[in-house]
Amino acid sequence: MTSLNNPRLTKREFLKYSTGLLSAAVLPYPYQAALANDHWDVIVIGGGTAGLPAAIFAAKRGLKVLVIEKASVIGGTLFVSTGQISGAGTVFQERKGIKDSPDQHYDDIMRINNNTSDPILTRILVDHAGPTINWLAKNGYTIFENHPVKKMAHDAFSVARYQQGPEGTTSPWGGGIAILNAIKPLVDQEINNGSITILLETSANDLIQSSDGDIKGVIVENNQGKILEYRGEKVILASGGCASNPRLYEELHGVPLYCQMAYPQSQGAGLILGQSVGGYLRGGEKYSPLYGMILSDDKIPSTPYGVARNVMERLPWEILVNSEGKRFVKEDHESVDHIEHRIGEQPAHRHWTILDQRMLDEMPNIIYDWPNKRIMDESNNHSMFKSANSIRDLAIKSGLHPMNLELTVEEYNNNLNNNRADEFGRQHRPLPLVKGPFYSIRMSGWSLCSFAGLGVNGNFEVTKASGEPIKNLYAIGEVIGFGATSGNAYVNGMGVTPALTYGKLLGERI
Ligand SMILES: Cc1cc2nc3c(=O)[nH]c(=O)nc-3n(C[C@H](O)[C@H](O)[C@H](O)COP(=O)(O)OP(=O)(O)OC[C@H]3O[C@@H](n4cnc5c(N)ncnc54)[C@H](O)[C@@H]3O)c2cc1C
Repeated sequence: MTSLNNPRLTKREFLKYSTGLLSAAVLPYPYQAALANDHWDVIVIGGGTAGLPAAIFAAKRGLKVLVIEKASVIGGTLFVSTGQISGAGTVFQERKGIKDSPDQHYDDIMRINNNTSDPILTRILVDHAGPTINWLAKNGYTIFENHPVKKMAHDAFSVARYQQGPEGTTSPWGGGIAILNAIKPLVDQEINNGSITILLETSANDLIQSSDGDIKGVIVENNQGKILEYRGEKVILASGGCASNPRLYEELHGVPLYCQMAYPQSQGAGLILGQSVGGYLRGGEKYSPLYGMILSDDKIPSTPYGVARNVMERLPWEILVNSEGKRFVKEDHESVDHIEHRIGEQPAHRHWTILDQRMLDEMPNIIYDWPNKRIMDESNNHSMFKSANSIRDLAIKSGLHPMNLELTVEEYNNNLNNNRADEFGRQHRPLPLVKGPFYSIRMSGWSLCSFAGLGVNGNFEVTKASGEPIKNLYAIGEVIGFGATSGNAYVNGMGVTPALTYGKLLGERI
């Protein structure tokens, strides 16, 4: 039972905070202090995508769970994530007569990421992702009418197993809300049962470690700067990645965080906590940029101004060049992962779209939620968009090598006009670049996730580099690294799905 021995907390106050308000309210300090007298079965650091299922399933087994959450609300990255998830054997597939299996899911993941995700964690994922999605469905999660699909913005699966919930999609990044809407009532239920207690606006700053190396609890700081200690049998790090911490991100990936759009609390706290007790980091070298971010400005990190639709969503009419004014990839390559890796080889991961007026008028929209006409309005007003009446002037305005760009366009046009094969084997060449005004859009490689994360074993125990587990310490979600689950590519759903699935599994087993 929760101790009530703090004289400043009356029984009435205790009851007030025990009756369903806990996930919505910040507890007063006396209550927080009273909770520090308890011994918890499980302490979860981070009430987000991975932490909430872990807390729910541990609580359902009768364990007493404390969730430490730095933000004022639970949900974490689900508030900003597109929430696209994938799994084999789901009720959504069944409804459409789609046949699928964990083995096919495994093969697709490994094909797309060139066998670079952790094989043990990937196997666990494919075996349990379907049941996790079915659990969400049982709790009210719904998906777009035309889903599951084989692909959206990333390389295609061989089977339609990829879906997104429709809620919150007024923002293109809002589908995570559909998942949170299914999970939140289950959290509230366990709070009402007294099985889960949540401390909001409370930051885990340190782990308590015994002299023999076992983890015994967590040291936190509340929103008034007060330090408290909570002791528990098991501690789960579920505090997300570091994609809102530019300094740490660059240190771990060797690449600047060009665009910041992760959840603000994704500061990498868990990575540092895990390392501080003997854990090790892996996976930063798997970093791969995404295609087509139009940044707001030249700051690092910058913010998104627009995002270009990649080859999975529209076949390109334009050509793509680097700062040398040279093409570097087959623009219509069937794998966007291939294109993204070539972008990763360019200086500062920059790539310029080059097109002429006729292309602009006739081709499908390049940028999400923008009519192509807007590109004309932005040209010469926004620093990422330029236009000029000749290719040479366009290159000069855009900061590209003028002679090279002229030669590149000439060669592209000549091959096309003379019915010769394209230098890069490109097939989709609807028009040459002939008549000005010509346009350029400067785009940058970018990422939403941290590839680097704590090394864990198949039981989600944080391990030392030697493989030896750190007793009582577990990690799930992006804190174990997007690279561990998605490899060196963006495989459909391999951020949210493993976070939910490993959270559920750990809660069931811990
Ligand atoms: C814009 C965007 C779109 C994305 N779209 C997709 C997608 O469509 N599909 C996909 O698979 N993946 C997607 N991802 C990735 C995926 O959403 C994340 O990898 C996943 O949600 C991370 O879950 P998590 O539980 O590790 O972290 P979170 O959900 O962020 O949870 C971590 C929690 O820990 C809390 N916390 C942090 N530090 C502390 C501390 N010191 N003490 C206490 N609490 C702390 C945070 O406040 C947060 O609530 C997207 C990511 C972004 C940013």
